[in-house]
Amino acid sequence: MRAGTDIYVCDGCLKELRKSDLRYCVRIEGVCAPQDCIKQGNGRADIKEEINILIKNMKNTPERELVNQVYSERYYDLCPQCYKSFFDGPLRSIHEKNNNR
Ligand SMILES: [Zn+2]
Repeated sequence: MRAGTDIYVCDGCLKELRKSDLRYCVRIEGVCAPQDCIKQGNGRADIKEEINILIKNMKNTPERELVNQVYSERYYDLCPQCYKSFFDGPLRSIHEKNNNR
């Protein structure tokens, strides 16, 4: 929404949407899937070593990047046409990028 107005702007086509216009709010949430980042060892020494390696790697990575590696969230206001287009092919841009390699 534009500050101080009742007008939204479609994040897809930049069309202005009044408060009374049909508008879709899309929230995309990406969460890192759990994985076996700590290998199962026979004793505590293996786990301790794995934790130390993990901490060492984290110290060399900026905080913002660490957060983005585990969680990302985006919000979009979309007009009906962009909403339909988005849900007809939410992974289209990734597929096109991969096909152009
Ligand atoms: Zn649009």
